[in-house]
Amino acid sequence: MNSLERVRAVLRGETPDRVPICLHNFMLAVRESGIPMERYRRDPEAIARAHLMAVEKYGYDCILIDTDTTMLAEAMGARSECAPGETGRIVEPAIRSLKEVNSLRVINPETDGRIPAMIEAIRLIAKQVGNEVAIRGNADQAAFSLACAVRGTEDFLAELALDPDNSAIERLLEVCYRSHLAVHRALFKAGAHFTSMGDSLAGPDVTSPKMFNRFARPYEMRLVRELAADGIFVVIHICGDTTKILDYLTAYEFCGFELDYKTDLRLAKKAVGAGHVLFGNIDPSGVLALGTANEIREKTSQLIREWKPGGRFVLNAGCAIVPTTPPENLRAMIETVRKEGVYSHGCPK
Ligand SMILES: [Zn+2]
Repeated sequence: MNSLERVRAVLRGETPDRVPICLHNFMLAVRESGIPMERYRRDPEAIARAHLMAVEKYGYDCILIDTDTTMLAEAMGARSECAPGETGRIVEPAIRSLKEVNSLRVINPETDGRIPAMIEAIRLIAKQVGNEVAIRGNADQAAFSLACAVRGTEDFLAELALDPDNSAIERLLEVCYRSHLAVHRALFKAGAHFTSMGDSLAGPDVTSPKMFNRFARPYEMRLVRELAADGIFVVIHICGDTTKILDYLTAYEFCGFELDYKTDLRLAKKAVGAGHVLFGNIDPSGVLALGTANEIREKTSQLIREWKPGGRFVLNAGCAIVPTTPPENLRAMIETVRKEGVYSHGCPK
């Protein structure tokens, strides 16, 4: 199996020759390529070069193309800033009150903000390695998290608590939903083999499971369903400890869940891993960036023991890999997967 075949087998729910590796490494890739982050954010050739150099250097199975967590909110009118070498952060929401929600328009991915650069980068990468290496296009933030960025996180969370029946909340979530759905479709059309999105502000570290169930889950489930109808497999990434919402996630149609390292490994495999694909979940800071090679081998072995049985598992860090991660640490993780991630029926390369 080549890398693409290996990943595709997992996304079909089949068992591959070994556990595939997908790296959420754009910050490290940018640093190692010497390309300034400011340029990477906007230049398709820079995005493609950084990722192609990284996959050549480390030899993993799936390139995850991501630029930051502000791309969609910017395209909807929010203002972001980034310190030199850093990723962007929202400094001014697109709307100052829910009353302004009707001024928001659904994104056109081909023209709006920095999205065209990402689409073009996927085309360039697909042209180079799209028959051998899997490409995961990250469509930035899901409806709930995008609504937080567009409205202002603190204000929006307060409105959900104090005025949950306000119909403008639903209109805001709907325009955010339709915007990011359009981006998933555009990334797939450009050559991504599957897509993903983050919905971290909907996770239990920020939002109560009750709120998640009412305001985030319906949009995530609808997205999985609508993309599946187009033949697109999607991965939902939620930062922090998702143990409290695992039962909700089991009800989704077939998709992937990328759960952070704080989530209970065993419970996640038992609940979500039974019918969905698990992505993750080595601790990117405490282990991958700061641990010794031996500690990384140990954690990777432990994860493989828990999540490999039965397949439906793609190994990654639990969240974005820190740009200062030592190359030998990443190699220790990858080598462990190559050795211990082999399924008995397979003959890996
Ligand atoms: Zn995360």
